[in-house]
Amino acid sequence: MADDFLIVHASELLTLRGPRRARQKTEMSELGAIPDGALAVSGGVIIDVGRTDSILRGHAATGVEQIDADGKIVMPGFVDCHTHLVYAGSREFELELKAKGKSYMQIMQEGGGIYRTVRDTRAAPWKDLFHQSAKRLESMIAHGSTTVEVKSGYGLDKTVEIRMLETIRRLAEDYPVTLVPTYLGAHAVAPEYEGKPDQYIDFMIDEVMPEISKRKLAQFCDVFCEKGVFNVEQARKVLLAAKSLGMKLKIHADELSSSRGAELAAEVRAVSAEHLAKPSDDGIMAMARKDVIGALLPATPYSSMSKDYADGRRLIDLGVPVALGTDLNPNCWNESMQFTISLACHKMRMTPAEAVTAATMNAAAAVGLEKRVGSLERGKKADIIMLDAPTHAHIPYRFGTNLCTRVIKEGKTIWEREPF
Ligand SMILES: [Zn+2]
Repeated sequence: MADDFLIVHASELLTLRGPRRARQKTEMSELGAIPDGALAVSGGVIIDVGRTDSILRGHAATGVEQIDADGKIVMPGFVDCHTHLVYAGSREFELELKAKGKSYMQIMQEGGGIYRTVRDTRAAPWKDLFHQSAKRLESMIAHGSTTVEVKSGYGLDKTVEIRMLETIRRLAEDYPVTLVPTYLGAHAVAPEYEGKPDQYIDFMIDEVMPEISKRKLAQFCDVFCEKGVFNVEQARKVLLAAKSLGMKLKIHADELSSSRGAELAAEVRAVSAEHLAKPSDDGIMAMARKDVIGALLPATPYSSMSKDYADGRRLIDLGVPVALGTDLNPNCWNESMQFTISLACHKMRMTPAEAVTAATMNAAAAVGLEKRVGSLERGKKADIIMLDAPTHAHIPYRFGTNLCTRVIKEGKTIWEREPF
């Protein structure tokens, strides 16, 4: 494929055109769809967008290559704004324990839970950690993700946390995908600091974060703010320290209980608060006022066999800009933003159009890349996917399958489904 090309005859070209910021309320329903749509790409960037006849009139005379979308959806590559892509091992055995009604604490006692993954990740040679993570990343690309946020948080020390962030950097060098690294040392209290969360926080702030900042290994810092993990005061301390080092902020907030995480996200001007199954009304209103994005992760309650999904409908109606992420992690091995969109519609009462906005433009804003990706507009990166369906409502409607036929990153085809 040449550097310059046209894509023509999309059944629906979803441009997501509009302001280069997260969309709110009814804006989330506006996909800027162009029937029989087309676009022109040059040097990895989108240079024109419109109906096929007008794009052909403007560009065909140059003899540029034409890709016929042949009645498929053409849309921005998915932005997966919340993942724990880098880890070693797996926890498939927990599925049977969950089915038998065992609690999270009982699963931990039977050798599962986050500390199992911390053990596996600490013990894994770097090559294994890289290859296990790379295989997942390849699958995410094949499902249409062209930008992926990735968190550390299974080392809970200095060496392995930094190894995880270095692995993210190496994956970004080796794969044609944009990775956004986040330091999540405050994912859980390190086993060495059991019962001493404040001392663990001091260790992170004094020993780990300055090194990460010096080597520019993380763009964001995230904290698991939850009853029994880190409370609001502890989370605030970590986040303010990260902010003073120039990192942007995210919070795992109000996932299992109302912990005032949403309020804290608004107070410290976090870019996003994630999960939000149980935010307070005050927290929701504070987020809406301060334009804090709500990153919703419907695969998490699904994999945990929980009924506690975030109320996406209500958050959107109250003015929180909502984004979506897979939350890929050893408890929730979900590599597909298409499946995530389907869950958002079926379990969080989001409309198909809102879920598409949440998985593209709003997720781009949640990782600080709203000016470069997330929509198909002049000047934006040519991160483009083709899905074998006539309209965007088919994405959530046809769950459990991969509709992607082609994935383009900065103007290069990086994955293509083989024709039968
Ligand atoms: Zn998470």
